[in-house]
Amino acid sequence: MKLKDRVSLITGAARGIGREIALKFAKEGSDIVVCDVDLEAAQNTQKEIEELGRRALSFKVDVTNLGQIEEMVNLILDKFSKIDILVNNAGITKDNLILRMSEEDWDKVLSVNLKGAFNCMKVVSRRMLKKRYGKIVNIASIIGMIGNAGQSNYAASKGGLIALTKSLAKELASRNINVNAVAPGFIETPMTAKLPEDYKKLMLENIPMGKFGGPEDVAKVCLFLAGSESDYITGQVIVVDGGMIM
Ligand code: NAP
Repeated sequence: MKLKDRVSLITGAARGIGREIALKFAKEGSDIVVCDVDLEAAQNTQKEIEELGRRALSFKVDVTNLGQIEEMVNLILDKFSKIDILVNNAGITKDNLILRMSEEDWDKVLSVNLKGAFNCMKVVSRRMLKKRYGKIVNIASIIGMIGNAGQSNYAASKGGLIALTKSLAKELASRNINVNAVAPGFIETPMTAKLPEDYKKLMLENIPMGKFGGPEDVAKVCLFLAGSESDYITGQVIVVDGGMIM
């Protein structure tokens, strides 16, 4: 088992990619903390993890709220005494062309996707520094690397997350804490299910592998970055997109 006796905190793990990461890490021996704004769905993920024989906790936490994260982390330390792995996965889209994009939609996407990751890393890295061990994986997006019309808020948040990843990788490297990012392309989850069919068809034409990815494709790379096989890798962005950008 690649994550035996580790404790992993995964944000937005109630569904989609985050849930898949949680289940994969649990199968590899990690105890899991599920954090999401949807408590009922988070508790379902928690149950699935417990059925795999691992310890699990779930919290209704909004990653934009620093106070809620501090409270959650204190409760995790009471129960599990450490956090070895943090996956910043919680993310949202609120797409529109810039002329129609409200200030509120700009702020909301930046707040969840970028500030949310900052909040979690700020609180959790303090504990990792004390232990001289940590693995942080940020779920970015290829849109943060290439941009996309109608997604300026999302692209800015994910591009910012990549810059944040590299900066923290430099700050924390000497303390045995790795900080890396995964940049998925088009992955079939509840987030992409709501996109129009003709848009999906157009996307598919731009994927050399000719198929969309699944949450499992992202989870496998997260496992690599959370385990010992990536011990000498930090500040990197691994693209998981079937060849869309290269
Ligand atoms: P998803 O199915 O919508 O799951 C995201 C989860 O995060 C949901 O359970 C959501 O809860 C939760 N969440 C939203 N805001 C939150 C907050 N403020 N605090 C805590 N949890 C919050 O999305 P996904 O497709 O799995 O995406 C996961 C990550 O991968 C995101 O960062 C996304 O940007 C990134 N990504 C996805 C794709 C893709 O093609 N799917 C591609 C590139 C990158 P609610 O549903 O209740 O809001």
